[in-house]
Amino acid sequence: MITLTFDTLRAQVRGDVIAATDEGFEQARAVYNAMIDKHPAVVTRPVNAGDVMAAVNFARENQLPVAIRGGGHSVPGFGTCDGGVVVDLSRMRGVRVDPEKRTARAEGGATWGDFNAATYPFGLATTGGIISTTGVAGLTLGGGIGYLARGFGLSLDNLVSADVVTADGRFVIASEKENEDLFWALRGGGGNFGVVTSFEFKLHPLGPEVLSGLIVHPLENAGELLSEFRRIAREAPDELTIWVVMRKAPPLPFLPTEWHGKEVLIFAACYSGDMKEGEKAVKALRALGRPVVDVISPHPFTGWQAAFDPLLAPGARNYWKSHDFTDLSDGAIKAILDAVRTLPSPECEVFIAHVGGAMARVAANATAWPNRDAHFIMNAHTRWRDKAQDSACVAWARQLFEATAPFAAGSVYVNFMPGDENDRVEKAYGANYRRLAEIKGRYDPDNLFRMNQNIRPTT
Ligand SMILES: Cc1cc2nc3c(=O)[nH]c(=O)nc-3n(C[C@H](O)[C@H](O)[C@H](O)COP(=O)(O)OP(=O)(O)OC[C@H]3O[C@@H](n4cnc5c(N)ncnc54)[C@H](O)[C@@H]3O)c2cc1C
Repeated sequence: MITLTFDTLRAQVRGDVIAATDEGFEQARAVYNAMIDKHPAVVTRPVNAGDVMAAVNFARENQLPVAIRGGGHSVPGFGTCDGGVVVDLSRMRGVRVDPEKRTARAEGGATWGDFNAATYPFGLATTGGIISTTGVAGLTLGGGIGYLARGFGLSLDNLVSADVVTADGRFVIASEKENEDLFWALRGGGGNFGVVTSFEFKLHPLGPEVLSGLIVHPLENAGELLSEFRRIAREAPDELTIWVVMRKAPPLPFLPTEWHGKEVLIFAACYSGDMKEGEKAVKALRALGRPVVDVISPHPFTGWQAAFDPLLAPGARNYWKSHDFTDLSDGAIKAILDAVRTLPSPECEVFIAHVGGAMARVAANATAWPNRDAHFIMNAHTRWRDKAQDSACVAWARQLFEATAPFAAGSVYVNFMPGDENDRVEKAYGANYRRLAEIKGRYDPDNLFRMNQNIRPTT
């Protein structure tokens, strides 16, 4: 057995090199999902692209796998590995805005909270996720859906360029003008192609306040509400996005206490344009049924984007299963509601993300992300605390997945896939998989970057 020493690596990097015997290793190996309990050989925390190059070279020369960690939110735990090198970018979180060009450059470890805090003072934004602690990197490289995707496109549609450290330790820039094949693959291909040390995004005017908030209904009316929702969602202008969450009501301060712990359907709505137009756009949604509360009003975008953070903090056990839908059929609604009536833990929920709009008007082969036809993305978002509940919670998600499969589009968003669906990766990329595999063969022929929804290199 070879014993690795990290002295050479320590001499080369300005950031941290944390081996198993070092103080802080236990904390350094932890990721978002508490089900993931991996022991890397070393965790590096680079502070610049040179450090990343040193870490990648060290891994390759020692034949160790590399796990890339941006925000650490991968539910399958791709931000860590057993016996390999973790490149944890959490010390590289700077965001610089160019208000003239309406662009922002974010380092590879920035979160959406970091990003929005930097762009908000300029009245600018781009599409990110629905909570603030998720990494810009993993979310963008896999797709990027959120409250602004219908108006501004996916996060990856707003990518202008990326600085990348490739498997051979080179630093390259990828954009429409340089290394175009790599740029195409990065926009959807996840962490398969290298470590992105910095992302340049297009920005759009927004806010400072957006019309946004929640409408909470009793679950017993959910069948009718969802039938109406699918019509409203289909007819909605691009600026309006409505996500549905079904779960046991958390103890939110604006919810009457008698509703805490009861099953509810929540509409989370956001209008990304003029406030008066927004009032008109949400009217039909607000007129539905007899809600328990309706707290839609103007909110600063940064506040609204962090509204779900406390419910989705790191440290719980998580397992996800997801389908895309072109429409929400009655059969799908029934299967979803059957599952919501048997939630296995108080933190489990079923999400229906409302997508389409600008993101649907991009050609399926323009970027590696092919699933432009979906109108809804369902995620069985299973979340619990007690290890003893693992099999019951995982079984619940799989049962919902099976029951909704006959009504689904067949495609899937890679960032919502669990770690046990390797046979589904090719399907997730559809007709784009072949080109992705060829580009992988050119940039990472030995599959150094394989802690991801893996694209096998074509040699
Ligand atoms: C609570 C929660 C809420 C979420 N909400 C949304 C949402 O609203 N919209 C949405 O689209 N998705 C959402 N997601 C899914 C999210 O997009 C994925 O989990 C994504 O992988 C997280 O990125 P990360 O950088 O935080 O994760 P990490 O675990 O750090 O990375 C995930 C993968 O991305 C790759 N990667 C990360 N950083 C880099 C880098 N710098 N260079 C190259 N590759 C890199 C790696 O391959 C890694 O395997 C959510 C996830 C969670 C847990």
